[in-house]
Parts: sequence; structure tokens; C-alpha cells
Amino acid sequence: MVSSARSFDVVVIGAGPAGGYLAGKVAAAGYDVALVEEHREIGEPIQCGGLVTPRVFEYVDCKETIIGAVHGAQLYSPSGRRLVIDGHNTQAVVVQRAMFDRAIATDAVRKGAHTFLGAQAQAARRDDGGVEISIDQDGEPRRLHAKLIVGCDGVRSNVAKWFNILRPRKILPGFEVEMTGVRGDPGFVTLFIGNEIAPGFFGWIIPSGDTARVGLCVGEGNAYAYLEKMLTRPEVRQYTKGAQPILYIAGGIPLGFPRRTYADNVLVVGDAACQAKAVSGGGIFTALTCSSLAAQTAIEALEADDVSGRFLHRYHKAWTKSIGKELRKDLAIHESFSKLNDDQFEELFDIFDSPEMLRLIEKKGDIDFPSKVGWALLKEDPRLLKYVGRALRAMIAKNVGI
Ligand SMILES: Cc1cc2nc3c(=O)[nH]c(=O)nc-3n(C[C@H](O)[C@H](O)[C@H](O)COP(=O)(O)OP(=O)(O)OC[C@H]3O[C@@H](n4cnc5c(N)ncnc54)[C@H](O)[C@@H]3O)c2cc1C
Repeated sequence: MVSSARSFDVVVIGAGPAGGYLAGKVAAAGYDVALVEEHREIGEPIQCGGLVTPRVFEYVDCKETIIGAVHGAQLYSPSGRRLVIDGHNTQAVVVQRAMFDRAIATDAVRKGAHTFLGAQAQAARRDDGGVEISIDQDGEPRRLHAKLIVGCDGVRSNVAKWFNILRPRKILPGFEVEMTGVRGDPGFVTLFIGNEIAPGFFGWIIPSGDTARVGLCVGEGNAYAYLEKMLTRPEVRQYTKGAQPILYIAGGIPLGFPRRTYADNVLVVGDAACQAKAVSGGGIFTALTCSSLAAQTAIEALEADDVSGRFLHRYHKAWTKSIGKELRKDLAIHESFSKLNDDQFEELFDIFDSPEMLRLIEKKGDIDFPSKVGWALLKEDPRLLKYVGRALRAMIAKNVGI
């Protein structure tokens, strides 16, 4: 039997970083917030390498989830040639992703949010000046009512689908295996580039405390099959020989730039709104940044008693004018690089393999704002124009300030 609907000011679907953070911020402002998560355990299953910059801790207070620090990267070309970039100081940290998500959700609960775990949102429709949401919690149908629903339900967002918000242009399939016994300096991430290894993206080894995440994303195709092949390559095996898998992780990276991330009574945030960086696939920092802006708009809308699309548009405007500029550039850069052949990648390695270029990358490289270093590199060596011309044209055509 379906019980009568329980009412909240805001119902957040999905307790990843975007959902947990937004729920806490809106609850702290004194509103009734429900945080609905289909899994019984927040943070599981893990679908992430956990590599973030220390900037994320400006949003969330959970440094206890850090399991490693990274100060550099080594890059392998298609022919197995290696470039080492060493920033010397901590450039990024690795978090235990399940603990990270749980810490954010715990904080939301402390601030007054109400969690529904093992609760899958199955449908939502506008009703009575708000939204009625049908959920299935451990086989029991339930109904929730909200003035505002926020879709933080990840790359295959149903909330976006239910309210006709445009879906990603493409989802890049990814696969990772967590392994014990991986060799190598835990202060470095290792990236593998080339069309045989990971066409359309790249492969990686991310040190992860006592273990390491070995994975890749590809433009299309069977990511697991590509990963199996990658693990047989000599430049990868020198690190993974004898290592044992302990966990397989599948996921997808949304590509695209949605024209609308709101509707009457609805906001979408994080991967649900394609707010991940197309250059690296990283989406935690951007999800938190956009979640903060969405929470601010939600609070203002509730204060003004106006959850119309016209009002909620200010969230879309805020994120596209801030982090959205970088996301657009990243998309253009990704589109340029994903079309290069292996000979062109080798030529790029020739260009980067100079003390001046490496010094520039070490000085200006920033995984949250990858386009910044691109501009400096282009000034240093105009030969790069041949490879990023398409990206530049796309940026200019889309009227994005550089
Ligand atoms: C292989 C891989 C590696 C990655 N590595 C990194 C990395 O190293 N660093 C980085 O910054 N980013 C990384 N990312 C990206 C990062 O994981 C995402 O960008 C980030 O998790 C987005 O957060 P989110 O809160 O928007 O969505 P998610 O973290 O995906 O959370 C969505 C939540 O919604 C829940 N949900 C979905 N549908 C429903 C429903 N109908 N009802 C109830 N709950 C629902 C899900 O269970 C999930 O908990 C990686 C991605 C992949 C695929």
C-alpha cells in the first residue's frame, strides 16, 4: 500500500558529493530536506579514482578521508616513451571515495537533512504547486512531496529525463581495477596515451594508499576489454606485474554542455548536469562548486516562495559564468585531442619534451583548470597551434573568454 506523501521543502535525489553537499547547505538554512539514495550504503559502489585538488576541502571538511598525496605525473606516449612532470609540492590528493561521500552526507544529517537509504526514485511529476516523487525503499513504495526536486543522480540522471532537461551528448565508458602490489612512486599518477590503449581518452594508474587504481576511459567501445589489453602492455606491466585485483569499478563520464540545468521546481547538479571536466574526467570539484551555487539559488527561491524556472535560471547563469567557462574550454580541448592519431601524439611528446615546456607545466599546471596551462604552452611553442587549433576555433566560436 502506498502511504500518503511526506512533505519536504527540497528533495535531493542522489547522495554523491553534489547531493550530500547541497542537502547540508539547504538544511543548515533551516529548510526541510530529504536526501534520497538508492544504495543502502552511501559511497558504494565506488565509481571513481578519488583524485582531487585540496580545493575541495574549501567546501567539505573531511581531510580524514585523504589516503595519499600526489606531486607529479608521468606520461607514456603510444610508443612507450616517458615524460616526467614533477611539481615537487602536493598538487592533488587521493581520497577514499566512499568515506568522502559518507562524510559529506553525515555532515548533511548533522545539519538536519533526512536520509532515505535503499530508496530508488522511480518517477516524479509536478503536482499541487510542487513535485510528487515516487520512491521504492527496500521494496516498499513511498511518496514524497517537495517544493523543489534537485537531481544529483549522476551520469544517467532520471530527474533530467523526467523533466526534459537535455542529456549528455555522449557518455565515455570507463573501467578501473583496484589492485594491491602495484609498484611505482606513490607521489605520481601515471597516464597512458594512445589510440591502441585508450582511443578518445587515456589510461591511468592512481596510487590509492596501500593499493592503486588502474583504469581508463575510451571514446566508445568496451572499456573493460581495453583495460584488459592495457594491462598486457610492457609500459603498464612494469608497474602491475604480480599485482592482484581486489575491486572492479565501472562508470561513465558525461560529455556535453547542457543549455538548461533547471525547469519549474527542478534543478540538476553534478554529473546529472554534465559538470565534469572533459579533459580529465574529474567531476568532484566541479560538482561541489555547482552544488554550492545550486544550494544558494534553492535557498533564495524558498525565501522568495518562487520555484519557477524563471527564478531558478539564476543557478544556470551562475555556474555557466564561473566554472562553466572552464568546462567549455575543456570540452573543446578534449574534442581536439581525441581526434589525434598516434603519430601526432608522438609529435606532441617531442614538443613537450623540453626543459622550458616541462617547467611551464610544473609551474602552471592545475587539474581543476587545465586550459590555463594550455594558453601558456601555446605562447611558449606556437607549433602547438597545429594540434589545438580546433579547440581555439571552438572556444572563439562559442564566445568563451580565454
Ligand atoms: C572511472 C571513473 C573514474 C573517476 N575518477 C575521478 C577522479 O579521480 N577524480 C574526480 O574528481 N572525479 C572522478 N570521476 C568523476 C566523478 O566520479 C564524478 O564526476 C562525481 O562522482 C560526480 O558526483 P555527483 O554527486 O554528481 O554524482 P555521483 O557521485 O555519481 O552520485 C550520484 C548518486 O545518485 C544515486 N542515484 C542515481 N539514481 C538514483 C535514483 N533514481 N534514486 C536514488 N538515488 C539515485 C547514485 O547511487 C549515486 O550515489 C571518475 C569517474 C569515473 C567514471
